[in-house]
Amino acid sequence: FMKFSCVPHLDKRKGAEALVLPLFQKKGKLSLPKELKSIESSLSSVLSTEDFKGKEGEIALVYAQKQPEKRIILLGLGEEDKKTTESIRRSFASLGKFCISKKISKLNLYIPEKDILRGALEGLLLVNYQFTILKGEGSKEKLPKLMDEIHLIGCGKHELDLAEKTLTICEGVYFARDLANGNAQDVTPQFLEKVAVGLSKQFHTIKTTLLTKKEIEKEQMGLLLAVNQGSSLDPAFIIAEYKGNPKSKDKTVLVGKGITYDTGGLNLKPTGFMETMRADMGGAALCLGTLKAVAELELPVNLTIVIPSTDNSIGSKSFKPGDIYKGFSGKTVEIANTDAEGRLVLADALAYAEKYLAPTRIIDFATLTGAQDIALGPEAAGLFTNNEELTKAFQKASAATFERVWPMPVFEEYKDGLKSDHADLKNVGA
Ligand code: ZN
Ligand code: ZN
Repeated sequence: FMKFSCVPHLDKRKGAEALVLPLFQKKGKLSLPKELKSIESSLSSVLSTEDFKGKEGEIALVYAQKQPEKRIILLGLGEEDKKTTESIRRSFASLGKFCISKKISKLNLYIPEKDILRGALEGLLLVNYQFTILKGEGSKEKLPKLMDEIHLIGCGKHELDLAEKTLTICEGVYFARDLANGNAQDVTPQFLEKVAVGLSKQFHTIKTTLLTKKEIEKEQMGLLLAVNQGSSLDPAFIIAEYKGNPKSKDKTVLVGKGITYDTGGLNLKPTGFMETMRADMGGAALCLGTLKAVAELELPVNLTIVIPSTDNSIGSKSFKPGDIYKGFSGKTVEIANTDAEGRLVLADALAYAEKYLAPTRIIDFATLTGAQDIALGPEAAGLFTNNEELTKAFQKASAATFERVWPMPVFEEYKDGLKSDHADLKNVGA
């Protein structure tokens, strides 16, 4: 929970635990902008030693007297001509971590230039998160307190609106993080159903439809059902629709992989590769978090999310390498490797979305393959697309948020590797 308020001038500010002054790196001696002259005397020692250079993310803590705050924090923003939204985000992320470690939860934040505000708030808010659900009571008490109040100095109503919007978006991120961090034992396909139903109760603009296992069978989603065979839980197929622009036919469909735990199936993952697999529903978490933020912001768009969900477990009924199954699209797939289960459940969801949901565009999010990590590392997600316009829009959004994507080729020839002797295709390339 975070509260924002604002004042136009420094001398109108109220008390807080710390006053934050962001400063760009200067060639010579650091000097304060004119507006800050009234606190220069409190900072004379730190400014005269030149210990603080204003480098990106650099922090100097000063215990000031005769100010409404006990502390003044100087925050380095790096060189001004190299400034990007991401460099601002990084600087403020380091400030956020510092404040949390020092239990500083109420900040007076001076904003020297309005164009840094978005990056500043994103940097602060994205680190202002803890996953505590699985901590015991004893260790919960010892956790640092998160920041809960930011008083923006040098700002007005417009900036306050931006702050509220940024908070709503970041809350969508927290929502997705909680789902991805949650224990696989708790975050089951049925739990994801509950979350989606919860959103439709919270927002009248969202309508959620759940397919039962019987309905999934009736729709002949043979690939989702194949992956689900080894599970003790039913699969889920979740459709949640947000109508923010009922007059328009334009509709974006997001499809998110909802494998709530991926053991790899009979092609079992080795130790070191399985431990994080509760997050194999990251695509589904992203869809739900996005839907929540979009509904909260009342964006004038139509957005539908589709989540095929099951765990990929081992049991006497598990699907087996060499098996052949028919998917929703009618194509048959030979299972070359049971650990390539994501594409199977997504194939059914994509074919379903195309047939029933009248999408203008479909965007599919998934934790799909370790090979992607080898290709690009953790710096960027692979982007596979058959639409140039969408690619451009996606790259623009990815640059603005620094959630980077990188286009990967989709060559015709790759199809040859997926040929199967007995089925229409295999689920892993040769
Ligand atoms: Zn897998
Ligand atoms: Zn997987």
